[in-house]
Amino acid sequence: MTDYASVSGRIFDIQRYSIHDGPGIRTVVFFKGCGLRCRWCCNPESQSGKTEIWQRSSLPEEVGYDVTAGEVIKEVLRDLPYYRRSGGGITLSGGECLLQPDFAYALLSLAKAHGIHTAIETALFAPPSHVERILPLVDVVLMDIKHMNPQKHKEFTGQDNVRILENARYVGEHAHDLVVRVPVVPTFNDTIADIGQIAAFARRLPRARAIHLLPYHRLGQDKYTALSRDYGMGEIPTPTDAKMQSLRRAAETAGLPCQIGG
Ligand code: SF4
Repeated sequence: MTDYASVSGRIFDIQRYSIHDGPGIRTVVFFKGCGLRCRWCCNPESQSGKTEIWQRSSLPEEVGYDVTAGEVIKEVLRDLPYYRRSGGGITLSGGECLLQPDFAYALLSLAKAHGIHTAIETALFAPPSHVERILPLVDVVLMDIKHMNPQKHKEFTGQDNVRILENARYVGEHAHDLVVRVPVVPTFNDTIADIGQIAAFARRLPRARAIHLLPYHRLGQDKYTALSRDYGMGEIPTPTDAKMQSLRRAAETAGLPCQIGG
């Protein structure tokens, strides 16, 4: 029998009591490493797969650490009564959890063995074999679709969307439950046409049940300073409520329920 508890991976945080990363009250495990470099990323410390030094207070600190699946599940199990009462569970986030497939598989397998609901937050920039392996263990997939135009996608994230959309079609056919999430980013994808195209794509995915529009925010800006990196969004303001409502209505005309926020 596989010893899932001893499989190790690299993360940068574990957050308890989250209510924005899937149903109910959840514990979120933030994986380190992502193949995209979204200009608006609010977790720039997630992007490199290596540990890094950053300075958020007076002393430099290491961000990122190695941990076993057994150690993570021990932490997750502390809140089992909350999951049971709220319909919550564990969410693998990042970074990109699909880039550490052995670790993700081990965590999800251990969660399932304890009867814990499982979710992943993914941008799907990962080998299709990783997606196919992990998906059967996931109760709900929270899947980002950022833009339907490959050039625009590359301009703002560093990569085109070809692999992402291929993976999205697979997930759309095979997921147990699927929510399509769109980070709404001014100057990138905040027009009725942009959101309408994503919503039309989502509507064709048989397992997709909803679209969530996530307004761009600037909360991660100080992290770039801590990592001695430039913030890629400059002074671009966050979208207004009126703009978000108009985009929500545009998305709903494609045929799926749409809400603002996760
Ligand atoms: S996919 Fe997510 S974690 Fe990766 S760079 Fe983009 S916003 Fe950051």
